[in-house]
Amino acid sequence: MNDLFHLKIYCLEFVARATTPIEMGEYKGSALRGAWQSYLQASFCGVPPSMRSDPIHQQACPVCYLTSRETNSETRRPYALRPPLSRQACYQSGEKFVFGFQLFGNTQAIFPYVLLAAREMGRDRGIGRNPQTAKQRGYFELLEVNNLLPFTNQRIPVLKNGDSTIHPPSLAVEPQLISQICEQWLPDLNNGRTLKIDLLTPLRLINKEHLMRVFDPLVFFQRLLERLADLSEQYGDPPFSEKKSTLGDLVNGLSPMAQNIRLVQDNTYWWDISGYSNRLGRSQPLGGLVGSVHLAADDWSELLPIFLWGEIVQLGKNIVKGGGWYHLEVI
Ligand SMILES: [Zn+2]
Repeated sequence: MNDLFHLKIYCLEFVARATTPIEMGEYKGSALRGAWQSYLQASFCGVPPSMRSDPIHQQACPVCYLTSRETNSETRRPYALRPPLSRQACYQSGEKFVFGFQLFGNTQAIFPYVLLAAREMGRDRGIGRNPQTAKQRGYFELLEVNNLLPFTNQRIPVLKNGDSTIHPPSLAVEPQLISQICEQWLPDLNNGRTLKIDLLTPLRLINKEHLMRVFDPLVFFQRLLERLADLSEQYGDPPFSEKKSTLGDLVNGLSPMAQNIRLVQDNTYWWDISGYSNRLGRSQPLGGLVGSVHLAADDWSELLPIFLWGEIVQLGKNIVKGGGWYHLEVI
């Protein structure tokens, strides 16, 4: 199963310290993404906004490659954002906070832009607002950037505090890692232990044109399968399309197993939040399910790789604003 998705994903962690008070609201994904994207476009893209969606320009411009792939599908975006998880709305000067980016596919060319924009938006443009002054933004300094390998404790610095040398990230999530974690987890899971999913940021899933307001394991699994197939098509090496005819087969083949997943505990609730969308020019709902579920199944062998990939790539709406980030644990 796992050999279908030939993805390579780099996980970056940014440690920041507020240099003025910063108010970003309880959910910070929207403010972070907005500031980061507008810094990128203003600083590194040389064409007027009307030309940014031109496919020829997008192929040549790393900024528009990152930010302008505005099609119907969220999965065309080459990154996912991981906002700070604390719900504190305001940071005082000197307080630290952490956010992250997951970069999909060939990121060597875009990595410096991601990093520089994250650093400069904090000290140059600002973010959110400074609650002590009516109109000014809040500012922060980037203390360090690390390259993480999820499911392991591996972490290597790519930028250290006070150092101007950037080390390209070298740790990436690849199919081999997913297989290794499966080997470690499957004996316990197939012996009656449960898979706990912590929904860290709002999971906003659509099922038959309606929001999934109550956690449904089958809907979760099917949307995840679709996202992984889409992402592998865009960023896989080789892409999924070589096996495109198997997407339907894949869904059909795995759905009976996914139908047997039992929801043994549901501690989820709806977190109703909204943010401002520059693209839409209006407020946009960002709410979704958060909390945790415990799932049981008789045989996780084919299912677990899909869930593990999902922890890395996030799921549902608003992934570029931090949505659909979850953490797995065997309980
Ligand atoms: Zn551009």
